[in-house]
Amino acid sequence: RTVYVNGAYLPETEAVVSVFDRGFLMADAVYEVTSVLGGRLIDFAGHCARLERSLAELDMRKPACFDALLDIHRELVARNGLEDGLIYLQVTRGSPGDRDFVFPDPDATEPTVVLFTQSKPGLADSAQAKTGLKVISVEDIRWGRRDIKTVQLLYPSMGKMMAKKAGADDAWLVEDGCVTEGTSNNAYIVLNGRIVTRALGADILHGITRAAVLRFAREAQMEVEERSFTIAEAQGADEAFVTSASAFVMPVVEIDGVTLGDGAPGPVARRLREIYIDESLKTAV
Ligand code: PMP
Repeated sequence: RTVYVNGAYLPETEAVVSVFDRGFLMADAVYEVTSVLGGRLIDFAGHCARLERSLAELDMRKPACFDALLDIHRELVARNGLEDGLIYLQVTRGSPGDRDFVFPDPDATEPTVVLFTQSKPGLADSAQAKTGLKVISVEDIRWGRRDIKTVQLLYPSMGKMMAKKAGADDAWLVEDGCVTEGTSNNAYIVLNGRIVTRALGADILHGITRAAVLRFAREAQMEVEERSFTIAEAQGADEAFVTSASAFVMPVVEIDGVTLGDGAPGPVARRLREIYIDESLKTAV
């Protein structure tokens, strides 16, 4: 693979970042994941806008290459011959010469920028979308600024491992009795045809896929209710699903061992998946 690091395109084995990088030492970094279908970027403008917001919320400087990010993404797609897959982008506060809790002077320390591709042939017609996911619930003990897309992914990673150990695919995080989101996706239930998902706030990531899916749902005259829901309510729902840039719309068929409906992906999730992929391909760049 050819990867991008601080202005250079290099073989992955030659790309290096300092041991003093604050992304490595302190998770002082933000990221984005953009999906690629047929060599084109899905929802790129949305990911770029959220990156800008994440940087601003952390008083992190915009990297010099910020306005060239689309070109860099395209260059990586071309150099790696990427058809279907993902592009991972990370920006850290940089690599001052030592470890220190105090932020380095932004004029003296360049942000570190790393991008790499992940090939996922057949991303849009994943086998999992046909069977659906099993999820378990785990307590949400993450920090209070989940609207900022930081690389603090240890707890979500542990949540996913707890799910795997329990024979499930993913975990839904629960705070004060209600589902916040999945480990790496936004969570939804469907009640009498109405789509219910938690309202935006500091307690969840403002999913780029969430925004698009809710817009397409409303355009298709589907009812959307942005409010919190419990695991018990989800277990009694007609269907459930999650959304993310890497999984698009993915049905959920089991929650803490309780099967939803007949155990197959529901019609609303299946339809939204189709609409999302069709519509976002129209604006892919
Ligand atoms: N919530 C969390 C915690 C996530 O990590 C992600 C994906 N990175 C999402 C939601 C979905 O966001 P998006 O649709 O922008 O990928």
